[in-house]
Amino acid sequence: MIRHYDVIVIGAGPAGMACSASLGEMGLDVLVLDEQEVPGGQIYRNIESCPVQRMEVLGEDYARGQPLAARFRARDLTREQGASVWQVEPEGRVYYSRDGISQMVTGNYIVAATGAMERPVPIPGWTLPGVMGAGGANNLYKEAGLTPTGRVVLAGSGPLLLLEACQLIEKGVDIAAILETTPKIPSPKVVPPAFPAALRPDFLYKGVKMLKVIRNSGVPHYKGITNLEALGTDELESVRCVAGEEQLEFDADLLLLHFGVIPGTHIFRQMGCRHEWNSVQRYWHPACDEWGRTNFEKVFAAGDGAYVHGAVAAGLKGELTALEIGTCLGAIQADERDQRAAEVRRHLRSDLFPRPFVDAMYAPRPEMFSFHDDTILCRCENVTVKQVLDVIADGCLDPNEIKIVTRCGMGPCQGRMCGPALAELVALTTSEKVENVGVFSIRPPLKGIPLKELAAMDLEIATSGPAKLFKDAK
Ligand SMILES: Cc1cc2nc3c(=O)[nH]c(=O)nc-3n(C[C@H](O)[C@H](O)[C@H](O)COP(=O)(O)OP(=O)(O)OC[C@H]3O[C@@H](n4cnc5c(N)ncnc54)[C@H](O)[C@@H]3O)c2cc1C
Repeated sequence: MIRHYDVIVIGAGPAGMACSASLGEMGLDVLVLDEQEVPGGQIYRNIESCPVQRMEVLGEDYARGQPLAARFRARDLTREQGASVWQVEPEGRVYYSRDGISQMVTGNYIVAATGAMERPVPIPGWTLPGVMGAGGANNLYKEAGLTPTGRVVLAGSGPLLLLEACQLIEKGVDIAAILETTPKIPSPKVVPPAFPAALRPDFLYKGVKMLKVIRNSGVPHYKGITNLEALGTDELESVRCVAGEEQLEFDADLLLLHFGVIPGTHIFRQMGCRHEWNSVQRYWHPACDEWGRTNFEKVFAAGDGAYVHGAVAAGLKGELTALEIGTCLGAIQADERDQRAAEVRRHLRSDLFPRPFVDAMYAPRPEMFSFHDDTILCRCENVTVKQVLDVIADGCLDPNEIKIVTRCGMGPCQGRMCGPALAELVALTTSEKVENVGVFSIRPPLKGIPLKELAAMDLEIATSGPAKLFKDAK
């Protein structure tokens, strides 16, 4: 029998937890699917079982997840962790794999609260063992208490890079250098958004405090670096870059890269959602109305997957989505929705005062993509920059054509790691605007699943619309 719910929420990070808890509080029948084993998402990973000492290092921004997780648990929701959604149809069907079994469920409404990912920026040597994302390293600490040993270099740009640096300093990790691609002198574009940011002195104080921790630690900290390279034969041995006129090289066992965060849009692309371009942060995001509704009446996007605004905003947006869906389903009246939404929006506005400033301050510059011929662009299929440049020279400019010819983007990550950089490379080579270059077409399954799982799916699902099973995104 096909299971049907009022609402299916995909993702149990701050947005998904707040949205589903709120829907549950309205008495609605909610299914939450999340591919992690426990709720929390990226920022609140392992929030329910994190030991006290680790909580102290991770600070109050992390601890804020505890009451949210408790609220999420308090509700009578159907929660399925370890459930990877691999296809969503905007009409209301969701296909997912859990414990080696794939199944389909239906919902009147679908909320994709699937979060963001660290912006992948290929640099020479980024595939060497010993090079990883700073957010990924942070997750290893949240989840397993793992702290890097040996010499660490942090490189890239953005507040999460500085946050990770501060936490490593506090843990006594041997940091060889912090190499920021952010310019030494901020662009004039940061001036106008600095005024609303000043309305949140607590937020600015947090930034200043991080910089102070770094300065007091004595760790060499360079800004405006270029030509970043990870060097080594079988594993990382050193990190090289240019700072001003100087070439620098640091011995290192671990290089933590971070170039900001971008929405994970695969699930929305697969559905055929309309997207918009954020020209400051250079990313695509699904186009949504004030409640998070996409161009599909029954499909909502909540949290950083819809627009990167951080964890607090993600939770608040999850609430707004819940209020709208609750109204559509008759669980609350429109005037109650509006009254409650006004309060949520007040918090949201206050939370977002500093955001345009942070976005402008850490705006990715096209130059950070310093493409070298032999740099691997597609990690899954080992496709180099040169291989892609050759097909561009032959007039092949559409990412999907490039994919067919070179296999760039054809591996198991389905272009998540190379897609944004490929678009930048085409734009740079052809002097076209990156938003006009196009993107990979995303088709199901969104996650790798064995064929035997598909073959073993309930016959009722197949008879409920076999043509739907692999419907193309528009
Ligand atoms: C690696 C990383 C580390 C970060 N660390 C921090 C930090 O320490 N501090 C900070 O302020 N911000 C951090 N961020 C930014 C952060 O993601 C958020 O601002 C916040 O977590 C966004 O909340 P969210 O609910 O929108 O998404 P998330 O918290 O990312 O939650 C999304 C959830 O959706 C699930 N999901 C995604 N796709 C599927 C699928 N197909 N099927 C089933 N489930 C799915 C994921 O498992 C995840 O649990 C980090 C981001 C990344 C990428």
